[in-house]
Amino acid sequence: MKIKIIICCILLYIVYDYEKNKILQQSITVIPKVIPVIEPILKGPDIEDYTLPYQSYDEIINMVKDWEKNSPLLVETGTYGSSEKGQDNFYFKISNEKKQPQYKTMITACVHGNEPWSTSTIMAYSGYMLSQYGKDDRITKILDSTEVYFIPVISPDTYPFRRMVNGVDPNREFPSPKNPDKKSVNPVQNMRDFFLKIKPNSILSGHTYGRVYLVPWGDSRSPNPNEKDYANIVGHMAKLSDYKWEKASQLYGSLIVGSDCDWYHRNGAFSIVMEFGSHQRKPSENDTETEFERTKEAFLSFVEESVKVNIIADQLIQYYYEPCKIIRYKNYRKIKCR
Ligand SMILES: [Zn+2]
Repeated sequence: MKIKIIICCILLYIVYDYEKNKILQQSITVIPKVIPVIEPILKGPDIEDYTLPYQSYDEIINMVKDWEKNSPLLVETGTYGSSEKGQDNFYFKISNEKKQPQYKTMITACVHGNEPWSTSTIMAYSGYMLSQYGKDDRITKILDSTEVYFIPVISPDTYPFRRMVNGVDPNREFPSPKNPDKKSVNPVQNMRDFFLKIKPNSILSGHTYGRVYLVPWGDSRSPNPNEKDYANIVGHMAKLSDYKWEKASQLYGSLIVGSDCDWYHRNGAFSIVMEFGSHQRKPSENDTETEFERTKEAFLSFVEESVKVNIIADQLIQYYYEPCKIIRYKNYRKIKCR
């Protein structure tokens, strides 16, 4: 009997030992090997020269598509419509989407086709920012937190020679409170639709010339509800770039109805016009470089600060046109308002 019990115990132990080893082996094979994944630091492409002379619309698009090919994680290109002559309305966006940027800004040029110096300068901004991503802390921080949209030419059919589109000034083609249902000429209508789809926090509209920033309103002399924000941000930009700044309504001495600056603000964006440079010809390389160096700091400051402004909604604006008269007598001119 004793022997039987001993044999039984031995057998039980052998079975127990076998099962234990089996489980141990299984558990060893189940544990996955942990290999630490070190993500490479994302860096922008080496762009040798971003301050270029005048480029045609196609040259700009091809250049940006090359940037996208080299840096697909930082550059996105696309279209938002087509012109009357069948050209794409082209945009591109620079940002690091992996960081889930919380802000959006739009940098545009050439709603007036005959102002190509604005295009060459904003293209210099984009090339500079892209090439400095992952190298310059400030630029990296901006592109981690903000999607920066660029529209190098809003009116491609008239670029670089003509201001008017179908016989009208495209920058008087935006809806105004007196004409809220306005249908705009093609490039402006497409731009409006794109803007409302993206809903950027801020927008810069590049024009030439005069080295001046314009802020809303153009069509009213009543104060803008974000007056202080404009004074702080654009006042600082003016100092950084040695530009002037004023309300759009002050530029010509008369009110401007239907302009980009007012419409963008009324639709929720901090909105400025930037009148680049000192002429409306095709820019030379030196022109672009001069304007880029002069305004680079102001531009970066715009992108950093403008996106954080809380825009007071257009519906809340008690809007009215002030009846103003321009009184002329010999060389004397005065604007008299109610
Ligand atoms: Zn213009």
